[in-house]
Amino acid sequence: MIPFNKPVWLGTEILRITEAITTHGHVAGGGPFARACEESLARMLGQPALLVTSCTHALEMAALLLDVKEGDEFIVPSYTFVSSANAFVLRGARPVFADVDPNGNLDPREVTRLRTPRTRAVVAVHYAGSSCDMTDLLDRCGRIPLVEDAAQALGATFDGKPLGTFGVAGAISFHETKNVGCGEGGALTVADPALLERAEYLRDKGTNRRRFLTGLVDKYTWVDVGSSYALSDLNAAYLSAQLDAFERIQARRATLHDRYVRELERAVERKGGYLVRPDPRNRPNHHLLGLVLRAREQRDRFIAHMKAHGITTPFHYVALHLSPMGKRFHGGEALPGAERLTDCLVRLPLFFNMTDAEQDEVIARTLEFVDAL
Ligand SMILES: *Cc1c(COP(=O)(O)O)cnc(C)c1O
Repeated sequence: MIPFNKPVWLGTEILRITEAITTHGHVAGGGPFARACEESLARMLGQPALLVTSCTHALEMAALLLDVKEGDEFIVPSYTFVSSANAFVLRGARPVFADVDPNGNLDPREVTRLRTPRTRAVVAVHYAGSSCDMTDLLDRCGRIPLVEDAAQALGATFDGKPLGTFGVAGAISFHETKNVGCGEGGALTVADPALLERAEYLRDKGTNRRRFLTGLVDKYTWVDVGSSYALSDLNAAYLSAQLDAFERIQARRATLHDRYVRELERAVERKGGYLVRPDPRNRPNHHLLGLVLRAREQRDRFIAHMKAHGITTPFHYVALHLSPMGKRFHGGEALPGAERLTDCLVRLPLFFNMTDAEQDEVIARTLEFVDAL
């Protein structure tokens, strides 16, 4: 059996967790490993990042930071994970679903088409760790704040600038399916110091605890709305081991990814399909290998073929405008880019601990199917 994903396992995670318990005696949020992770992230991103319990929560914090409220609209690509939309819907805002390009990224022209005086935010999702033309997107957003769902994008850049740092706020995920993780975890990155201060209150139950602990204020009290979004230092310990090994993990993913492209791309294109590929202005992070076939029927037969050989190749994202919840907001207009990916995209196994023999098998079974088309 070859699974779609195995969480990264280095062996050093358990040593860090032991250290959190026995050496530091600190396992709640805001501990020494959380600080170490935040320092690594700030170095990678070139701006501050707060460690939180998930990317979903980071997006919820972004909606709170923007004071999104009842009656607001926000533009979000339809082809995405539910959290990109839910975080704003929770505040009473209405999603306006935008179409995506063949690589799953928001088409910037959609912002011009869909914006209204009520548009309170634009959410860009960096699918597979690639992005749309961010310069064009920011141009079209004008004064509307951009929030980046950079859940899949740690380590990726556009024109040399890290994804997640273009907008007012960026949300990163450390879910076990991402390039590095800790089971469940995330980060919120914001450049503006005033927003950052407010984000700390939101994370610490609406208190200025962080400023108190760092000696900036002499009382610790309730100063804003908030919730409990800090990551336990047990999770941060695990994550810190993987962030320290980030380059090594990325290098292995790049090797696996590039081999898939080398061995599959031509055969797939000959049959009218394609592999999801980042824009040349992106430095990719090789988060996933998306294979887009010509029709839903072909895609579903591919999944069955791989399953018969013990290989799990899931599709993902039913376009949100077609989902039961999304239909409550959407007028019924077709979004052909998102619908095509819903029907025709499938993901191949790609994970740090994947062996060459496992990849040999996935490639052989994929070619067997594609060549018979
Ligand atoms: C994984 C993912 C999320 C959710 O991340 P969590 O950390 O599990 O909350 C949100 N958006 C996208 C695009 C994702 O891939």
